[in-house]
Amino acid sequence: MNEGTQDIPAPLGLLAELTHRCPLQCPYCSNPVNLERRSGELDTAEWKRVFGEAADLGVLHVHLSGGEPTARPDLEDLVAECREVGLYSNLITAGVSTDEERLERLVEAGLDHVQLSMQGPDAQINDFVAGMRGAYEKKLRTAKAVGRLGLPLTLNAVIHRHNIARVGEMIDLALALGARRVEIAHVQYYGWALRNRASLMPNRAQINAAMQVVESAREDLKGRLVIDAVVPDYYARFPKPCMGGWGRQSLNVTPNGKVLPCHAAETIAGLTFETVREQSLADIWYRSEAFNRFRGTDWMPEPCRSCERKEIDWGGCRCQALAFAGDASATDPACHRSPLHGHMLAVAEADAKEEEAFVYRSFANAGAP
Ligand code: SF4
Ligand code: SF4
Repeated sequence: MNEGTQDIPAPLGLLAELTHRCPLQCPYCSNPVNLERRSGELDTAEWKRVFGEAADLGVLHVHLSGGEPTARPDLEDLVAECREVGLYSNLITAGVSTDEERLERLVEAGLDHVQLSMQGPDAQINDFVAGMRGAYEKKLRTAKAVGRLGLPLTLNAVIHRHNIARVGEMIDLALALGARRVEIAHVQYYGWALRNRASLMPNRAQINAAMQVVESAREDLKGRLVIDAVVPDYYARFPKPCMGGWGRQSLNVTPNGKVLPCHAAETIAGLTFETVREQSLADIWYRSEAFNRFRGTDWMPEPCRSCERKEIDWGGCRCQALAFAGDASATDPACHRSPLHGHMLAVAEADAKEEEAFVYRSFANAGAP
């Protein structure tokens, strides 16, 4: 423990966004709208140093993510480094660009777990949402290869208006593919999803129906499949404890080495995010202004300051507060005690009636240089 940091817990998880390159174009992608080009990415040696520093800091799990992490030819080296320094490695993949041989090499290097995204329970909806023809068949092949190699598999099913009626089929698919866990995760409206909110938002009746399907599947599949479900904030009564609390449990490293308390934190103007190219992970975690700004509860205004839930949800999401209140230190409007909660709900209900087409996630649509 560093001097003066006794009250700050060590992080447990690190999300390593190895690249923003990805063959899919999901309109809800959590990557920022301004995608990072390959030329700006950390190199192999830099990522290895990050993993060593993470292990020293107390991190237990590394989520190798993107974009599509298998776009990095050095992924085997990076997985091997995670194993070498004692980090559990989880590959978060779209599963359309990895063959069984590559997966086998990753297993040999020490990969511990695979999380595979599915955009729908059949080729038509999956490939429409993913913006790639043939993606569904490739994903099925990847899931089967993961099973043959004996790796535990989690299916990530991101839910929105276009597939919410098919939650039951997504759960059936997870079971058929031998997954141990399925995440029924409603779109979180940051990054590309915020841009596409009017074409993704479901209505309350659709959400209630989907949650009933989830509840009954949980009962039926107890002991066979773990089903995690995230309800959209816009229709919630209380916010989620975003990232388990700002600077409490985990951190993100972007492709170019910026260290963030959550993946949307860069939307908060006025905060400066340090990079692993200039500082150690420990210095950034314990001492940076950005990590300390919303850590704990001292920064909270009312009604959070005197709320009995302030150490349960930690005031919710700072980025959402900024988006609605224009002030990142305001109460998350997902909370029914926020004066903006009614406005947030009205926005959701209006968006749920819109008929807009997707703006697919791509470097061209990002307008990136
Ligand atoms: S959400 Fe879709 S586009 Fe974004 S990184 Fe994942 S697979 Fe690629
Ligand atoms: S008032 Fe603040 S701490 Fe209380 S439930 Fe709402 S967001 Fe959470």
